[in-house]
Formats: sequence, C-alpha cells, structure tokens
Amino acid sequence: MSWLNDRARLQMMASEADISVRLVEKNSLFWRLLANILQVLRIMKANVFLDDFATTIGPIIAFPSNWSTETVENVLTHELVHVKQARACSFGLHPWIGLPIFAIAYLFLPIPFGLAYCRFHFELEAEKVRWYKMFKEQTNFVVIDSIAKNWAKLVSSSSYGWSMPTKWAIELTSEAIGKLFARYLSELPSGTSVENQ
Ligand SMILES: [Zn+2]
Repeated sequence: MSWLNDRARLQMMASEADISVRLVEKNSLFWRLLANILQVLRIMKANVFLDDFATTIGPIIAFPSNWSTETVENVLTHELVHVKQARACSFGLHPWIGLPIFAIAYLFLPIPFGLAYCRFHFELEAEKVRWYKMFKEQTNFVVIDSIAKNWAKLVSSSSYGWSMPTKWAIELTSEAIGKLFARYLSELPSGTSVENQ
C-alpha cells in the first residue's frame, strides 16, 4: 500500500516533530529537474534519485510515490533530523532560514567531494536516531552493526558525493555505534538483563 493512502497520519506524525514539515510526493517538475542535474554530474541516475531515495530540503520531505507506509515511517525518523538540523542553522527560527547555511555546509565543507565531513556528520547524526530506536526495540547488536557498516559504505559512495573515504566512514560509524550501545545500556533500568548482544 502506497504511503499516500496514509498521508494524513504520517503528516501529523511529522508535524509533531517539527511544525514546519511538509511531506510531498517526489514527482513534480522540480524533483525531476534536480534528478537530471544529479545525473549530469554523474552523482546518481535520475530514476534512482526519484524512486529509491527520500530527500529533505528545508522543511520539505519528498518521498517516492510508490513507497509503502512502512518504508516511509522507517525513513521519516532520519529525514526529520535533517529538518531539525536546518532549523538549528537558523538558531531555531525556521528550516527555510537555516537552509542556506545548512546547504553550504552539507554540499561544500570542507571539500565538496572526497572529504565532505559536514555532509557525513549530518547524515550520521540522522542515522544515529534510527539505530538508537533499533537498540530500544531490542534488535540484535550484530544486525545493527552490519546495517551501520553498509550505511557507511553507501554514504562514502557516489550516492552521497563520496562524502568520506570508505575506511574512515566505517571507523567513525563503528565508533558511533559503540557509543550508542553504551548509552542504551546506561539508560536501561537497573537489574535489566541484556539479551541483544
Ligand atoms: Zn540524510
């Protein structure tokens, strides 16, 4: 079932996280134009960008129309962090106001391709929220660790403009997973036995 059948509920969930958020379908002229630019830059094939990726710009989160409700719910957690990051770049005023600073940092700093640490950092912070949620749902540590390693490979690939050398991306991601797991353990009520290792 397409997420569009559940749009009102998903929009309500997103609005609770940040009042400015608007969920849209990724099929308008704007998104198709952006997809073609990415293809020309050899960052990503246009149809992959339109069909396989959610994209957030300021308070707008675009999802492919054919995604299921479950997929959108899963990815929404990550995208909402990007809205909050854009808002933080405006010192809390509005994601549109923070977008220019967010975009400059995300796209160009310190080096647009190969060492875009800001891009990697913004993406890692967004994924960490998802992984922490998985720890709380008692997902096996090995499973989360392997998901995170695959993510590190993806974020250091052409899909994210080679944000970071893969080896460093994996190291930084493993470190983040270790810290998240320690935080998860420290927040467990005392006396709880841990069975997800
Ligand atoms: Zn992201």
